[in-house]
Amino acid sequence: MTTTQPDDFDVATALTQVRERIAAAAHAVDRDPASITLVAVSKTKPAALVAKALDADQRDFGENYLQDALAKIESLADREPLWHFIGDIQSNKTRDIASSFAWVHAVDRFKIARRLSDQRPEGMAPLNLCIQVNIDGEDSKSGLAPEQVAELADQIATLDNVKLRGLMAIPAPADDPEAQRRPFAALRTLLKDLNANGHTMDTLSMGMSADLEAAIAEGATHVRVGTAIFGARTA
Ligand SMILES: *Cc1c(COP(=O)(O)O)cnc(C)c1O
Repeated sequence: MTTTQPDDFDVATALTQVRERIAAAAHAVDRDPASITLVAVSKTKPAALVAKALDADQRDFGENYLQDALAKIESLADREPLWHFIGDIQSNKTRDIASSFAWVHAVDRFKIARRLSDQRPEGMAPLNLCIQVNIDGEDSKSGLAPEQVAELADQIATLDNVKLRGLMAIPAPADDPEAQRRPFAALRTLLKDLNANGHTMDTLSMGMSADLEAAIAEGATHVRVGTAIFGARTA
């Protein structure tokens, strides 16, 4: 893979393989593969590779770095991809995010959610939001502690131009499937508890290249997959 030029990477074949993994993981737990949205994480990858994925009928794309993303969004606008902002959000970046993305996956402060709502351009559908949860309590990780999520969810529910869709997590890497499933199961339980208290969230954004099967087994509705589709990142 290291000798492959970025533009030559066979995105179509890689996408087919990832779709097969998703279908197999869904069938293993009697889920409909169509209930799982594949978000192709194109961060650091050139627009030409995103175009190849679009050619292969991929529609949802995830980006972490705003400036890099905005250039791609502009150059591919006529292809109408659906863009997901999955990175950490600084408050001086909310205006561009609110106008260029359909989803934001990593909200962990009300201030950010309120700015995104205030800055969502008139005439656009509400911006879909997920709250990022630090589900396994790792010190280095962004995201809210599970016991803080209810308060933020209640606050976000009062905003006009965003829609609270669900929860997102990036658990610590683990090798064996049982260990991978534990934090995903905890996120699923947290969503269920919030919905039992009046929310109507339908999204669990969890699972990446290395653990998408475990996430799907625990109910993931959105898997965010980069490396397995676009190849290893050097940046
Ligand atoms: C980079 C990234 C991914 C994709 O990770 P891979 O291991 O390359 O599949 C998913 N989610 C987030 C938040 C990321 O930053």
